[in-house]
Amino acid sequence: MSSTSLQTKNHMTIQLDSSKVYLKLFNTLSRNKESFVPLIPGKVKIYTCGPTVYHYAHIGNFRTYVFEDLLRRTLKLLGFNVTQVMNLTDVDDKTIKGAIAKGITLDEFTEPYKQAFFSDLKTLNIEPAEHYPAATDYIEDMIKMVQVLLDKKIAYKGGDGSIYYAINKFPHYGCLSHLHLEELQAGASERVASDEYDKDHVADFVLWKIYDPERDGKIYWESPFGPGRPGWHLECSAMAMKLLGDTIDIHVGGVDNMFPHHENEIAQSEACSGKTFSTYWMHSEHLLVDHKKMSKSLGNFYTLRDLLNKGFSGLQVRYMLIQTHYKTQLNFTFQGLEGVKSALQRLNDFIQRMFDIKSEGPVNSLEPLLQETLLKFATALADDLNISVGLGVIFDFVREINSLCDANKISQVEAKQVIEFMRKIDSVLGVLSFEKAVEEIPAELQEAFEKRLKARQEKNWKLSDELRDFIYQRGYIIEDTPSGARLKKAEN
Ligand SMILES: [Zn+2]
Repeated sequence: MSSTSLQTKNHMTIQLDSSKVYLKLFNTLSRNKESFVPLIPGKVKIYTCGPTVYHYAHIGNFRTYVFEDLLRRTLKLLGFNVTQVMNLTDVDDKTIKGAIAKGITLDEFTEPYKQAFFSDLKTLNIEPAEHYPAATDYIEDMIKMVQVLLDKKIAYKGGDGSIYYAINKFPHYGCLSHLHLEELQAGASERVASDEYDKDHVADFVLWKIYDPERDGKIYWESPFGPGRPGWHLECSAMAMKLLGDTIDIHVGGVDNMFPHHENEIAQSEACSGKTFSTYWMHSEHLLVDHKKMSKSLGNFYTLRDLLNKGFSGLQVRYMLIQTHYKTQLNFTFQGLEGVKSALQRLNDFIQRMFDIKSEGPVNSLEPLLQETLLKFATALADDLNISVGLGVIFDFVREINSLCDANKISQVEAKQVIEFMRKIDSVLGVLSFEKAVEEIPAELQEAFEKRLKARQEKNWKLSDELRDFIYQRGYIIEDTPSGARLKKAEN
């Protein structure tokens, strides 16, 4: 692991000694916290299942995406070079149904939801992944995989003409979810739905869904096995392997995708390549609203936009989503979100306080504290993203610096170092604001300023000078900027 450092303007270097930080992640495959060892030293390849673009994503979806972002940023803090792929499912039953209902093409239907998704990621300050492949751009790769599976006799043509994956041909089936074939068979024996007649085993899943003009309208792709479209599980396998190679380091997703989606991804990919698909699997827990599963019928279903419309900011929502450990269910309430808002305000007020410190004094007395705090913070996150301990370290630090400030023991130079330190912490948290707050300009001065602009246009120099003096006497100056003159508080 390489080390990351932070150089302040005063040449003080806060070094994260990464030789002291050991990354451990809970691996769903083994159900154990394991030391993380990447395939290539210093590099991490991550695949994250992305949205189905038929709707706006809800806050439960965003819990997973924010957790993945926290993982990504932690890896970067620890010095890893990260390559992340997040797919966009733009062809499946729901997108096809939506396009047909509106009488538009699949692209026309999914494009606005793709754009909305990217805009929501930005609002939540989620770092962009390196690749956002759309499934419809990789149909050829999916067809190739189906062919390989047919050639290996792992796939077969079902009664309806679709191509299915025979799960009993893959001995490891169930390795992720820890389910057994017999249980799947037993669990399903009660239910004999009409579409199950087409398959050999009830848990066999579709790789290539044969075209049905009534269901699919004009949406289909040609293939050697007849016109149709890929199965959802196959989409992820094909895009992951195409962009990241046969084996990836970490595959991440929500716990609801563990079975059957991720189990099927493993079955398809490993049967094709003969290699391990992903060394580590991580799953985030559900988000509940008022202790209930979020659902439209209960009226407790929220998209990110719903929360923004209620006056919360993207950063407040992000902070709410990261502060519960990803393996714990997160119970969302508006009361909780209000609490998060004030906790975040405390951190931002602290940064503003640092901006306002003007006293001269010691230059480097904080270095040991900053280094120790950074190490503690990194160590907490390296322990399977233990965010509660990480945030505790930061709040303790803020308390300590605040009491030093109360005793007038922080100089301007040190305050700047503290701000740089908080920026480093925020490279992981992504929730803080470093804009120096702009003071409100008193109404009478704003009025005088505008009157003066008018007087100058009318070449009334006497009035213009009088108004300028009025403004100056009240401690403000008129500054010329490329976009025109503006009022600004005079520096003392
Ligand atoms: Zn997936």
